Amino acid sequence: GPQQLDDTDGRIFPSLPPLLHGHSDIHLRNGVMNASRLAAAHEPDAEKAFFVADLSQVYRQHQRWKTCLPEIQPFYAVKCNPDPYVIRLLAALGAGFDCASNGEISSVLNIGGIDPSRIIFANPCKAVSFVRSAARMGVDMMTFDNADELYKIARAHPGAKLVVRILTDDSKSLCAFGIKFGAPLATVPGLLAKAQELRLDVVGVSFHVGSGCYDPSVYTDAIMRARKVFDMGVDAGYTFTLLDVGGGFEDALFEKAASFLTTAIDQYFPARDGIKIIAEPGRFYVSKAFKLAANIIARRAPLTGGAIARSESSDEPGVMYYINDGVYGAFNCILFDHQVIHPYVLSLNGSFHVPSSEPQMVSSVWGPTCDSIDCVSPKTMLPSGLRVGDWLGFDNMGAYTVCAASQFNGFEVSNVIYTTGGIGASEVYNALAGFAENGHGH
Ligand code: PLP
Repeated sequence: GPQQLDDTDGRIFPSLPPLLHGHSDIHLRNGVMNASRLAAAHEPDAEKAFFVADLSQVYRQHQRWKTCLPEIQPFYAVKCNPDPYVIRLLAALGAGFDCASNGEISSVLNIGGIDPSRIIFANPCKAVSFVRSAARMGVDMMTFDNADELYKIARAHPGAKLVVRILTDDSKSLCAFGIKFGAPLATVPGLLAKAQELRLDVVGVSFHVGSGCYDPSVYTDAIMRARKVFDMGVDAGYTFTLLDVGGGFEDALFEKAASFLTTAIDQYFPARDGIKIIAEPGRFYVSKAFKLAANIIARRAPLTGGAIARSESSDEPGVMYYINDGVYGAFNCILFDHQVIHPYVLSLNGSFHVPSSEPQMVSSVWGPTCDSIDCVSPKTMLPSGLRVGDWLGFDNMGAYTVCAASQFNGFEVSNVIYTTGGIGASEVYNALAGFAENGHGH
C-alpha cells in the first residue's frame, strides 16, 4: 500500500487521516487497487469514490500568488473548500481567512494558532446572533452593504471594523453576485453617514468581481470604483486603511488578472502608505489540487423507442455509465458552479494500461441517485471496452465540490486521501509540521 510519513501518522495531527508522499496520480491508482482488494474481501462500499488532494499544489499556488501579488495578503475563502488540511497549510503560509458564517469562523479558530484578526467575516448580510458571536470570538473585520446591517452591528458588535462591499461589474464571471450583494456607489455616502451617526468604525472597501472571472480587465474598473469610495470615506470623516479586492481569480488567467490589478492599484492608489491590501481567493488555491476517482457501478444501453424516442444518429450516446458520485455529491459543481465535466479513464477492463488505439464511443455518465437530473456528463467520448468495476478520473475537483455535497439517496460524501505531492513535498511537510507545533496549546 501507499507509504506514510513515519512521524505524521497519528502524532502531529491526531485528529486527521495520514498524509502520504508522492504524486496524486500514484495515489489515484493506489486507491483503485486498494478498493479492488477490499472488494475481493467483500467489504461493503469497497468501491467507494474518493478524492486525492495534493497539498503541494496548494503550496505552489501560494508561491504563484506571492510572486505576482506580493503586496496583497490572501484571505482564503473557506466556503470554497473548508478542508482542514488546506486551512492548516494556508495558515502556516501566512494567509488570512474569509469566513461566511459562524461555523466557518469556528472551524478556522478551532485549528488553533490563528489570531481572529486574520479573519474577515465577508458576508454582507449576517444574522444578529452571528454578529454577536463574531464579537465574542474576537473577529472584528466584517463587510456590510446596507443600512440594516449597520443597525445590527451597532447593537451586537459596536467595536467592529467595517468594510463596505460595493457593486462592481460581474458580467464576465461564471457566478455573478451583483443581484444579491454590493452597494451601488450612489448609496455609499448615505451608508457612511449612517455609520458615522451610529459611531461605527468603517475601515475600508471590498468588492467581488464574481467567481470564475474570465475577463480580468474588470479589476481595473473595480479598483477605480474603490478609489471613489475611499474619497467618499474622507468626505464622511473616515480614513480608510483597507482595500479588499475579493476573489474571482481563475487559474489559467491568474497572471493576467494580477497584472491588471497591479496596474490599476498603481494608477488609483499611487500613494498607499497606511493602506493594507487583501484579497479573498477561493477557487485559485484549491481547484487543481483535488482529483476524484469514481467507480463504474452500472452500465446499460440508452433508452430507445417507448416514451423517449432517441435519435438514431451516431453522435448520440451509445452507452450509459452510472458512477458512484453525482450531482447530489461532488458534482454539485455542475448545478451550482456551472462546471462542465470531462471524465478520463483510470482503469480499462481492470487494467491501468489504456492503449491510445482503444476505440472510443459516444457515452453518457450518470450519478448514483434515482433522480434523472443526476447526470455528470450527457455526452463524452470514452473507450468502448469500459466495464462495470472500471474507474473514471476527474481533474480540477477542489473548488465548490465537497463543501456543498449532500447525502441524498443515502450516498456518503466521498472521502479525501491527502498527499504532500511530488515537487514541494518537503516544504508542505515542514509548513504543516511547524504550524502544528507552534499552533499547539493555543
Ligand atoms: N469572497 C466572497 C465574499 C465570496 O462570496 C466568494 C465566493 O463565493 C469568494 C470570496 C471566493 O471567490 P473565488 O472562489 O471565485 O475566488
